Parts: sequence; C-alpha cells; structure tokens
Amino acid sequence: MLDIVFRSARIVDGTGNPWSPGDVGVEGGRISRVGDLTGAAARRVVDLDGRVLAPGFIDLHTHADFTLPVFPRAEAMVRQGVTTLVLGNCGFSPFPVVPERLEMLRAYVAAFDAGLPWSWVDAAGFMAHLETLPLACNVALQVGQGAVRVAAMGFDDRPPSAAELDFMRRLVAEAFEQGVVALSTGLIYPPSSFAATDELIALAEVGRRYGAFYSSHVRGEGDMLVEAIGEALEVGRRAAVPIQLSHHKASGKRNWGRVETTLAMIDKARADGHDVLADQYPYTASSTTLAAIMPRWAMDGGIDGMRSRLADPAARRRIRDELMRAHPDHPAPARGMREFDPGAIMIASVPDGVGRSCEGLLLTELAARFGEDPAETALGLLERGGGGVQIVAFTMSEDDVRRVMRHPAVAVASDGWTLSPAAGGRPHPRSYGTFVRVLGKYVREDRVLSLEEAIRKMTSLPAHRLRSYDRGLIRPGCTADLVAFDPAHVADRSTFEAPHQFCEGVSHVIVNGQIVIEMGRDTGARAGRVLRRAPA
Ligand SMILES: [Zn+2]
Repeated sequence: MLDIVFRSARIVDGTGNPWSPGDVGVEGGRISRVGDLTGAAARRVVDLDGRVLAPGFIDLHTHADFTLPVFPRAEAMVRQGVTTLVLGNCGFSPFPVVPERLEMLRAYVAAFDAGLPWSWVDAAGFMAHLETLPLACNVALQVGQGAVRVAAMGFDDRPPSAAELDFMRRLVAEAFEQGVVALSTGLIYPPSSFAATDELIALAEVGRRYGAFYSSHVRGEGDMLVEAIGEALEVGRRAAVPIQLSHHKASGKRNWGRVETTLAMIDKARADGHDVLADQYPYTASSTTLAAIMPRWAMDGGIDGMRSRLADPAARRRIRDELMRAHPDHPAPARGMREFDPGAIMIASVPDGVGRSCEGLLLTELAARFGEDPAETALGLLERGGGGVQIVAFTMSEDDVRRVMRHPAVAVASDGWTLSPAAGGRPHPRSYGTFVRVLGKYVREDRVLSLEEAIRKMTSLPAHRLRSYDRGLIRPGCTADLVAFDPAHVADRSTFEAPHQFCEGVSHVIVNGQIVIEMGRDTGARAGRVLRRAPA
C-alpha cells in the first residue's frame, strides 16, 4: 500500500523534459510509482488538480549554518519548495574549531551568527547538533577555507608555514572524512582572501580522493572579475576537482556585460574537459558585510586590526581616501577595490548598540542625516558594528542577470539563510524569494526560461553537483523530496522594503516522504536529514 498518492499532477520531472500529466506514489520515503495510479491503494490521496509537481529544490548556496540552530524550520526557504540546503559557503563554516581561536572564528562569522551554541569542534559535532533540531528540510555541509585558516593561523596576512599548510590540509581531509561535500572559499573576506592561489590548490586537491568539489566566491566580482574567474578555473584544473562558481555576477556599472566573457570562459573550460558549474540568485542587488568595502591592507588582523586602524587618524585618512577613489564617478578609480557607491548601499541590519533606525537607509541618506560624508558614515558604522553590519548593494544589471540565468551550467541558488519574520532587520529578499521569483517573474512573466528548464536548474543540476543521485528527479526509486505549486500564481512577495514575507502559490512541500508544508501551513514534521557526501 502506498503512503501517499499525488493525483492529477502536471509532472515536471527535473530532467528539463516537457511536463507530462500523471500521478506520483510515495512509499517508505521514496517515489515508488509514476503514471496513472487510478485505483491504487493508498493511505492518503492528495489531489493536485493540475498543479505542477516537481522534485524539491536544492539550494547549493546558503549561509543557513548560522541561522538554522535558531530557525530550524527554515520556513523562508521551505515554503518556496526548497528541500535541501547546502551550507558552508564563501569560506564561512562554524567548524573546525580550535578552542583557543574560537573567539576569532566567532568574529569572522559575526555577520551571520544568529546565536549558535558553539558546542562542537568539527563537522561531525556540528552535524550531530543539527540532528538534534526539528529540521524541516535536508542539509549538506561544506567546510569553509576561511574557518580553516582561522583555526591554523588566525587573521595573519601572510603565507602559511609548511606546518600550518599541513595542518590546514589535515583539517580539510577530516571534514571530508566526516561527510562534508565541498571546500568553499570567500576570497574577498579576510582571512580567506589572504590565501594565494597555490595555497587554495593545496587545499582543494585534498578533495580529489573524496569526490568533493571546490566552491568559490571569487576574488573579485567587479573590476577583477575576469582574473578572479580565471583563478578559480586554475584551481579546478590544477587540483583536478569540480568547480562551483558562486553567485555569478558582474558588480559595478563599469563592469556590466563582462559576464559574457566569463560565461565564455566557463564554456571553454568545459570544452577542455573541466567540470565547471555556476550558480546565481535572481536579483540585481547583492548582500554582504559592510567590512567588505575595506581595502585589504586595513584588514590584517581581522576586525580587531580594522578597528585599531580606524582609531589611528593617519590610517583612517588613508582608508577614507581609498574609499573615495573606489567611487564609480571618481576620475581615476582605484582598481582592484570593491566599488564604493554609497548611493547604492543600503544598511540591511546592524548589531545591538549601533541604532536600528539606520536599517533600511542608504549610506547617502544616513550621511545626510548625520551631516557628514558617506565614507565617514561607513567608517563610523564599522567602528561601532565591527563585522556585524550587513548591507544590500544595488550593483548589477538586469541584462547580466538574464544572460547568466540562461546559461545551461548555471543553477538557481539563494545565497540566503533561514529567516523568520522574528529575525528583524531589512535582509536581502533572496532568502524568501529566490526560487519562486524565478518561477513567477522569469518563467511566467518575462519568459526568460521555460518552466522545465528553470526546474532543472533547481533540482537535477544541483543534485548532479552534489553527486546526490537519488534526489533532484521524479523517478521511481528516488527519495520523495517534492514540491507542488500553481504555475499561474507562484510568486515572491518579499521586497527590499518589506523583506519578511513568505511566498505564494506553493501548496505542498514533501521532504523524505513526509509532508512539511500543506496548503501553505507548516505541519511541524521533523522530516529533514543531514546528508553526508556519497563515497567516491
Ligand atoms: Zn559569497
């Protein structure tokens, strides 16, 4: 007897093939039958009445490691149909922990940390902690190279000694042994950014014998984009591991259009036999920590180093001058620095003690309120808020977003984290809206992608990257991670002005055969699991 039959669905199976009408039977957590199941005995029948039934969405790029312990139902994402979250992106993971450097690790992840208990030292311990939570969806972990570097050498801006490099390789190998799927880097964030290419290769190649991939927030997404993508491809080639290029984009007006070059680089690398994929969120604004505007030299020693330089008048003046030169309208812009356009930077959230009233304001608006120049405003916020000030930056072009979206090797991924309206602040809406925005705006309204191709980019493509061969498809034998939605009404509601709003149009979400969202309500089912890397 089947546990559940989903009747009268429009089945979009995740392969990219055109939809077909039919029923799907679930038994023992797996999809057991697909076809006409009229008359099949089942404990439960759910009539989908022509709604789309697709494999559950797999979000390759999240920072939910830092919020799941507080919001384990992951409602912002699960309500869209996300059934697996990949954690540990951009070099940030909450392990490995070397006890004497725990405070440094906490400072490093301060922009994300929603209040972790920090009761583990390694991936296995963190997984065990996650398994105590009432998870609604599955999670897979990556180990962050920044966290590994903090454990080995703190925030020092120098190459590692042979012993330190060896220690980092051992930490990475241990994480892979424990089941993490990849090593991630975030090469704009110190101390991840302090690593030279050879150091990255030495760590990435550890993944080869485990079948683990290398994901990268590359060294620059603005002026340095082309070189930075080149570096990531070089890491993949020399370490002989698959590459996942994170949140692919070109930042800053003068770089718009450069994704044509980088997408061609991806095609060339693939033609040459290298396994390269990318992912993307469907917005023209990014989100990061305000500290990302700082010049590299000012971040030696991490947030403490930054604070002491801000307290030194000469160093502070130099930082201010460099920020002014990073303004897009500057006649002789500083190359290599992140573009500093205060009219395009909105303060998303600040730690306690900074003043909540600045949340939701542009740096230019805040500067006008204080009667000072915006660079000074930014430095003041960094002084008071350290690494905990989050920004949203409106720096991309819609044409580029569409160009990247159409590329067949680009998956849909949020770069978000699990939120709840209780989280406060004005976070980027991508946590609440990424997947349904693609289905509503880019499939239904603007016809940038077909429905089937969009679903492939949310399901079998990321499953393929994870080597998760029993997910991401509607096929007998696959795990029953499923989402049902109304293709005529599915839409995001979360906006930059009012981000804390769940999506609409998604009726059912099924994780490992259990219904977690039913007619838009959380059933409370503890259906999620920690997914460990399949052996190579
Ligand atoms: Zn990133």
